[in-house]
Amino acid sequence: MNLSNITYTIHHNLCTGCGICENACPFNAIEIVVKEGRFLPQVNDGLCKNVQGCHRCIDACPGVGVDLSRIANEQFCDEAIKTDKWVGRYMKCFVGHSNDYDIRYHCASGGMVSQFLIFLLEKNYIDGAVVTAFDPDNELLVHSYIAHNREEVLHAKGSKYAPVSLHGMAQAIKQESGSRFVIVGLPCHIQGFRKLEKIDRKFKGKIFGYFAIYCSSGRTFYLTEHVFRERGIRKDDLTYFAYRDEGCLGSLVAKQRRSIRVDNNNSETSLYKEDEVYKEKYQSYYHPLRSFFVPRRCLFCIDHYGELGDVCFGDIHIEPFIEDKIGVNSIVVRKQLWLDLLMAAKDEMYVTLDEISVETLNSSQEMAGKKKGRNKNFIVLNKKLRRAVPVYDVSLPQKIGIKTILDYAQNRIQQLLGRHKNLWWLISKLKKDTSHYK
Ligand SMILES: Cc1cc2nc3c(=O)[nH]c(=O)nc-3n(C[C@H](O)[C@H](O)[C@H](O)COP(=O)(O)OP(=O)(O)OC[C@H]3O[C@@H](n4cnc5c(N)ncnc54)[C@H](O)[C@@H]3O)c2cc1C
Repeated sequence: MNLSNITYTIHHNLCTGCGICENACPFNAIEIVVKEGRFLPQVNDGLCKNVQGCHRCIDACPGVGVDLSRIANEQFCDEAIKTDKWVGRYMKCFVGHSNDYDIRYHCASGGMVSQFLIFLLEKNYIDGAVVTAFDPDNELLVHSYIAHNREEVLHAKGSKYAPVSLHGMAQAIKQESGSRFVIVGLPCHIQGFRKLEKIDRKFKGKIFGYFAIYCSSGRTFYLTEHVFRERGIRKDDLTYFAYRDEGCLGSLVAKQRRSIRVDNNNSETSLYKEDEVYKEKYQSYYHPLRSFFVPRRCLFCIDHYGELGDVCFGDIHIEPFIEDKIGVNSIVVRKQLWLDLLMAAKDEMYVTLDEISVETLNSSQEMAGKKKGRNKNFIVLNKKLRRAVPVYDVSLPQKIGIKTILDYAQNRIQQLLGRHKNLWWLISKLKKDTSHYK
């Protein structure tokens, strides 16, 4: 088997499903397909020019690792840049939210991603932004596209706890007439696009910036299927769905069409349709599901904040912000240009921003420390087991203890249960009790 193209990533289970390899392939030899609840690239050997020395797919692949420090040092070198062991290079950290109540209330956190994009588009700072929408008409329920206006940005509001592949997006950007595009993605998407920039100058010339959303870990399509199955939500009847809506952290909201049979007086029956609404708190349906639907590759991820993003967005679920009921974000800025644009959005009353310390930010992100500690240990453990692991330009621990082995085994068992639908009945028995969560 020829393993020097993206086949290496797939074969060693290192694929993040980000779709960057498809963007990188000049011969259309890669198709992104859905397999076992996630996106995976499929290589057409007849079209692949790997043996003639291509390798572009693997050169852009974040699944095999990335030089996080080197690229961050190249990108973020303003005088005021500082370095933090978890956040990486940064300029300032903020809490903030959209000043539009509806956006703030209905977006994932405080609506900063959507509101800032709207500001940038309305003030003509950018030509478009790659976003990912939940779409009941789409078989997979998620799809990505370039948004050019407020409506298109808001159509994509909210977090998608499902695989997101940004395949086709580099091509779409290159075909557009403008040259100032923003890409919104998870840390692995941004890593891949930063790698792609190095081998695709035309693409690089079109990019104005990257917005990363912090990521504890991805989820397979099976998470949604499991949640729907447990609650009797019918995918085919959905008219609206959000993983997080209506307030800070928010709730799953599913609206589905149901037919109501009415018996009329003259003994005739008629049918009419109405929306039935299901709601459940985010902490109640999402947190209990531990690592059951987390892809294996995410256990090796060491980038929580999206260290290669120009601006990064997340929640801030600690006191006093935890008392907020409408929506609030934390934000990391890494370039003067982006700091100036954020301040302009504040001055124009689009958003509210208050500076916070990096320590405050870190205290709100449990997974940031785990990724720099636990996940690095998982990499070392798998190296010792002679398994392929992603390579990062960071130092790794020399030794690992029994706790790492048990922790890794526990995660892998949970993932095994999540992958096999006939074992899902066990998940309800092993779910985490989160009734005490605020
Ligand atoms: C899988 C996942 C894990 C996360 N883990 C954490 C965490 O541990 N800690 C934390 O503080 N925050 C985490 N977040 C981020 C948080 O949920 C919000 O997305 C973030 O705070 C932005 O909120 P907002 O209101 O500004 O976004 P909105 O204004 O609602 O906009 C969200 C934007 O993100 C894009 N988007 C949503 N989901 C995805 C996706 N899966 N892939 C690519 N693009 C997407 C949409 O296109 C949209 O433009 C996670 C998000 C995801 C999707």
